[in-house]
Amino acid sequence: MDPVTQAEQVLKSTAAELTAPHEAECLYHYLCRMLDQHGCRGHRFTERWAKERRMRGPVLKWAKGTGGCCCDCEVIMNSFGSPASCRQGLLCAEGLAELERPDEE
Ligand SMILES: [Zn+2]
Ligand SMILES: [Zn+2]
Repeated sequence: MDPVTQAEQVLKSTAAELTAPHEAECLYHYLCRMLDQHGCRGHRFTERWAKERRMRGPVLKWAKGTGGCCCDCEVIMNSFGSPASCRQGLLCAEGLAELERPDEE
């Protein structure tokens, strides 16, 4: 393989890896990480995470039903406040503690 093609393939797979959910990473931490790095792009990252976990349908339904209807930051702000979010690996115990911790600022 010529070096240019090789470099292109490395770049492509790196880009895919950059937005890939980590193994066992909950949706909450994944979204925090992605929005921090890439900003809000609709439901792009919610969909990506859900697709990776093979539960796109239920997750989008959950997001829309809990106030996160339009984009990933709404999911963070609204959806994780609903009790159902602890199920299905959407929110890990650590994330839950973070959300419940009062703002110190
Ligand atoms: Zn987490
Ligand atoms: Zn947004």
